[in-house]
Amino acid sequence: MVAERIDGKAFAAELRERIAQQVAALKAEHDLVPGLAVVLVGDDPASQVYVGSKGKQTVAAGMNSYEHRLPAEATQADLLALIGRLNADSAVHGILVQLPLPDHIDETEIINAIAVKKDVDGFTVANTGRLATGQRAMVPCTPLGCLMLLRDRLGDLSGLNAVVIGRSNIVGKPMAALLLADNATVTVAHSRSRDLPAITRAADIVVAAVGRPGMVRGDWVKPGATVIDVGINRTESGLVGDVDYDSVAEVAGAVTPVPGGVGPMTIACLLANTLTACCRANGLPDPE
Ligand code: NDP
Repeated sequence: MVAERIDGKAFAAELRERIAQQVAALKAEHDLVPGLAVVLVGDDPASQVYVGSKGKQTVAAGMNSYEHRLPAEATQADLLALIGRLNADSAVHGILVQLPLPDHIDETEIINAIAVKKDVDGFTVANTGRLATGQRAMVPCTPLGCLMLLRDRLGDLSGLNAVVIGRSNIVGKPMAALLLADNATVTVAHSRSRDLPAITRAADIVVAAVGRPGMVRGDWVKPGATVIDVGINRTESGLVGDVDYDSVAEVAGAVTPVPGGVGPMTIACLLANTLTACCRANGLPDPE
């Protein structure tokens, strides 16, 4: 079997196009323009690249982008004051603080200072709790993108066995919550899990969010399974995922490549969340 290559890049481009149309309609019908504020502290090169492309794509979708770059020595108080101002600014519908923050900053306190309705990354305790209890939430962008790709390929996920490898707050746990909400039977594996290949071989869906190049191999996968590779690992041979694409593609039904799979979905979902936040802030229904 040669697996279908799930083209996240094309899917994300279509999603961004749809968002741009909805943004244009919002402007025409309600004179509203969604605004996304991105806060970057310090000069981490990877973070600078991410923030740059988020800004570009925000503007390309017809939204306003507000970038706030603070020096690495900015204090907790500086950041809290900035977030306070953004929370109060009615032109800002979404606030994203680019992680990681410098060591002297208490990341948890900063994230939780973001107004829940503007928390487009879905990382505040309030949004995490809402997602876990089935209430309307802002859903973290990377797992939301994975869910969209899974629904697109598989339709109804009810009763399917899903294994999420990784239990981080930003990917693994919200991914598991989303799959559970879609009625999959969910196993969350991590570094202490025993006989991981046996666990993944029983799965219809495998989501790998680990940070270990090529960890999931073909003999870990059930024939016909759908494999979503969240991993982004910089190696000497370039950017690779957590899935050994070639061997998995011989067994799986479908698999996402790295790059060009989950990565592009993350920013597209950030735009989707910003549009949703703008609609909710103005008493309008969520966009379709
Ligand atoms: P974390 O480092 O926070 O979490 C990694 C998880 O993998 C942990 O739960 C850890 O277990 C588990 N793990 C580590 N080693 C093993 C192992 N040998 N077997 C099983 N589980 C293991 O990473 P993130 O969740 O932040 O990110 C995961 C990957 O996804 C990274 O490569 C990251 O770059 C990428 N990423 C990609 C995004 C995108 O847009 N495509 C967005 C965000 C992340 P334990 O908890 O026991 O330590």
